[in-house]
Amino acid sequence: MSTTHEAGWAHATGALRGPSWLREPVDPNALVPQLWSATARKVDGELEVGGVRLADLAAEHMTPAYVLDEADLRGRAVAFRDAFAGWDVYYAAKAFWCTAVARWMAEDGLHVDCCSPGELTVALRGGVDPARIEYHGNNKTVPELRRVVAAGVGRVVVDSLTEVGRVAAVARDLGVVQGVMVRVTPGVEAHTHEYIATAHEDQKFGLSITTGAALEAVRRVHAEDSLALRGLHSHIGSQIFDASGFEVAARRVLALHARVRDELGVEMPELDLGGGFGIAYTTQDDPATPESLAADLGRIVDAELRALGLARPRLSIEPGRAIAGPATCTLYTVGTVKPVTLDAGAVRTYVSVDGGMSDNVRTALYDADYSCTLAARASDAPPVLARVVGKHCEAGDVVVKDEFLPADVAPGDLLAVPATGAYCRSMASNYNHSLRPPVVAVRDGVARVVVRRETEDDLLATDVGNHAPAPTPGTALGTAHDGGDQ
Ligand SMILES: *Cc1c(COP(=O)(O)O)cnc(C)c1O
Repeated sequence: MSTTHEAGWAHATGALRGPSWLREPVDPNALVPQLWSATARKVDGELEVGGVRLADLAAEHMTPAYVLDEADLRGRAVAFRDAFAGWDVYYAAKAFWCTAVARWMAEDGLHVDCCSPGELTVALRGGVDPARIEYHGNNKTVPELRRVVAAGVGRVVVDSLTEVGRVAAVARDLGVVQGVMVRVTPGVEAHTHEYIATAHEDQKFGLSITTGAALEAVRRVHAEDSLALRGLHSHIGSQIFDASGFEVAARRVLALHARVRDELGVEMPELDLGGGFGIAYTTQDDPATPESLAADLGRIVDAELRALGLARPRLSIEPGRAIAGPATCTLYTVGTVKPVTLDAGAVRTYVSVDGGMSDNVRTALYDADYSCTLAARASDAPPVLARVVGKHCEAGDVVVKDEFLPADVAPGDLLAVPATGAYCRSMASNYNHSLRPPVVAVRDGVARVVVRRETEDDLLATDVGNHAPAPTPGTALGTAHDGGDQ
């Protein structure tokens, strides 16, 4: 939640202590364990993840690079699966997706939530059973639905009255009965940033319970021979720490579930409570464990079911960030260090790295907080308040707004930013024609590229003009991104 004034954090005022939650570290070399993946550690100032020294990884794979701790990601997936035994756990693919992760989800017994044809393709290529896929989206086209239904996706989550008829026609045409969930907006304002709060009424997702649109959608799905009504779906937002949002949502959604029983005589077999479980980006955040989430959500749902005299439907959740987010850190090389004197005379140290908003847009988009550490050396220098910025042509191109780094941070230093596994690579762009970084999975001392770095050939592949003869001989451009001054 932003507490800054209209002009935002880019306009610093007063003395330079950073935000109130940021404490000056006793040792700026030390890792804050709760922000890092399970196998991350520092050995003599050198950061290791999955038994791989990140300095070695940088030498081989260059920077910027996403470093994915495989054991950590799979451990979180399995922790959710086991804590929510008897529920279905859908991994929300949009957090981070590639065929390696799809295979892990299939092997580890998770279900998958997709919301685009591309995500579906990756799921199927990775061997995910289509029956275990739930398909989302507020504007699924007819060709898209044809693919989804033909692929045998277990559940389509309908998001509008228009879509009910659309998916019914597609299923009828293909001669199948399609399982359908109805996404409702339970009218909950989750305690999170506005752009990622999705269950209050004034937004594009879901069908309103209060206006009766949700009940009408349920009626229409129930009336279609080519659709099988599975249940209601509610997703109240993202980066949520507080079970009270789920409590209010569950109460409202289950009231509708009971109303459907009373009015249509159907007890829907399923109920999906969505995802949005928060993770620790900085020391401000104190996320719940899967075990405590399972206990809280189970208690909340069971109390409501008892009060309404309902049997327990098959329950499901859709964590994305909480599985992928903490597993990955981004490794950058420092290019310049610039002390900037502010109006009040205080000095802010701008540390420029070789990536930025193209590999992590969350700071610019959501005003997100991150932390970072030097990855290849220890330092005895005192801590200095730094701002880590990217190399793009935007003043708002900030990766880490405020962090204490050793005052001798210098060009050539490696810098690692934890908790970049969700909504960083998946939201990465080619802004400034930059090349999206690779994802390197590390495990038991071995580094394995699961998504390679883009090349300039990748960039130019879609540039039709490039395939015409060049008017004048150009200078040769290397395709490797060396992380230097280009
Ligand atoms: C984004 C999304 C999720 C996952 O959210 P996280 O915050 O990554 O857990 C789950 N369900 C739906 C419908 C979503 O849109």
